[in-house]
Amino acid sequence: MTNYRSGFVTLLGRPNVGKSTLINQLIGKKITITSPIAQTTRNKLKGILTTNNGQIIFVDTPGVHKPHHRLGEILVKNAKSAIFGVDLVVFVIDSSEKPGRGDEYIMNFLVANQTDFIVVLNKWDLVNKEFRNLRLEQYKKFFGVNRNFQIVSASEGEGCSDLIEMLLSFLPEGPKLYAEDTICDQPLDNLLSDLVREQVLINTREEVPHSIAVKIDKREEMKRKNGKSFTGILATIIVERNSQKGILIGKKGSMLKTIGQSARLHMSKLIDGPIHLELFVKVVPNWRKKESRLIEFGYEEDF
Ligand code: GDP
Ligand code: MG
Repeated sequence: MTNYRSGFVTLLGRPNVGKSTLINQLIGKKITITSPIAQTTRNKLKGILTTNNGQIIFVDTPGVHKPHHRLGEILVKNAKSAIFGVDLVVFVIDSSEKPGRGDEYIMNFLVANQTDFIVVLNKWDLVNKEFRNLRLEQYKKFFGVNRNFQIVSASEGEGCSDLIEMLLSFLPEGPKLYAEDTICDQPLDNLLSDLVREQVLINTREEVPHSIAVKIDKREEMKRKNGKSFTGILATIIVERNSQKGILIGKKGSMLKTIGQSARLHMSKLIDGPIHLELFVKVVPNWRKKESRLIEFGYEEDF
């Protein structure tokens, strides 16, 4: 029997390549939100996988992209800083596309910082069978033949157990760093507010861009008249403009209702119990440019 291994593994890559989906798949529970829209992930969240052979602490990062505002700057800075002090960096690629300039930018950044990394070619299910050899060759040429590769499909789960084996083999021997039943390092309210944000992104698509934040105002264990308990949650969705507030509320409140219903379902799954959720919408002009509001809504530079 080999000795127990443990360590930190940072997932880095362009926005939308499937970093968060991969972490959820590897951990087996939805702790980090995902969406078809780029820049969904804002917090540098850790997801913890404990197996019989080792413990892997995954660090999810916002995608590395060219920032256009202060929030974007913080996200990219935090993503980049996540490569320091960890045991392994995994460069996640959307293999349905050939290597591009975004990947080159990240690779140069890693090389400039003398960071060793392995490559995960994700979304393999989207590569046509007849193109698969060619695609693999393109990436081998791009990264060099000595680079370690793992092909996966995060959404389908394909290749994921091989990936776990490979990651463990790169980690040092060490004890469990977190209790066995811990799967995430974030406070529950952060996970809950992100589940609301996810539904806003999914339901409003391009109409309400990334100018929203969600704040949990109150979370309380309560009892119904029949004695059954539930969790009551009050949350506020912050937007930058009145027009966005209108879109979020929708015709006779229909949009807010849809968002609330879906978010409530995911929340119940996360905490394993019934939820009563009330949502409010508030306009805070230009919150993404104000340090005080960024801090209030949970976005700070890590150091
Ligand atoms: P992130 O920005 O890198 O964290 O990307 P997300 O995890 O939010 O995923 C972006 C989108 O890609 C979502 O719509 C996912 O469902 C989708 N996705 C992720 N992995 C796969 C995959 O292996 N195959 C396919 N077809 N879609 C995927
Ligand atoms: Mg993400």
